[in-house]
Amino acid sequence: MDLGPDEVLERAAELIGGSTHATAFTGAGISVESGIPPFRGEDGVWSRLDPGFLDISFFREHPERSWPLIVETFYDVFRGAEPNAAHRSLAAMEARGLVEAVVTQNIDGLHRRAGSQRVIEFHGSSDRLVCTECGATVPASDDALSKLPPLCPGCSGVLRPDFVFFGEPIPEPASTMAFAEAEVADVFLLVGTTGMVQPASSIPVLAKANGAVIVEVNTEATAYTGTITDVFVPGPASRTLPRLEDLTSG
Ligand code: ZN
Repeated sequence: MDLGPDEVLERAAELIGGSTHATAFTGAGISVESGIPPFRGEDGVWSRLDPGFLDISFFREHPERSWPLIVETFYDVFRGAEPNAAHRSLAAMEARGLVEAVVTQNIDGLHRRAGSQRVIEFHGSSDRLVCTECGATVPASDDALSKLPPLCPGCSGVLRPDFVFFGEPIPEPASTMAFAEAEVADVFLLVGTTGMVQPASSIPVLAKANGAVIVEVNTEATAYTGTITDVFVPGPASRTLPRLEDLTSG
């Protein structure tokens, strides 16, 4: 039986409201309405820019060539971005005890800025820079990025963003924490993720195998929709998540 749009939202709200451990799992789609373009897909950043500068071996050999592209692709874009209604709704639902954690594939830091407390950054974060020589971390301030490549204030080693490059493993403890969510969650709320990036995309599949109900909020059907999704809520997250938040209150 197909449900109408309002019934779908009500069903999703019932599941989240009745859950004991709901985990949100987010991807690029949640930040698009904050002005951050997606990387994959037809209009994605990688359709016009070769991502080879994010290959870890290229970066190690040519940080002076990678860094200007890193700034242009990430820092210049993130600088003007603010959390949108979808980020804020997840933070509000966490504050009300309805969402236990956000596992995000995004490196833009917008979940934390929206007020989410338990954010598992599966691909790391652009907010910090790490020294490739001594491991020191410094905030990725405009000042730190004023001269490229940025150098460690302690040892003058080259700094790198604290996010995952191509060819690198997922950082700990984020990896262990994210997969642990797939063990304990009884509801997984997928938002703005198409399920194309491994190994992140396997987390909801594992959650489903462990008995979680899958609620998916996406503008269009994805690899998850016909396979593991139980309730598909179509539409932009900035519109549907505030409605879910409303329906779960009171
Ligand atoms: Zn250093």
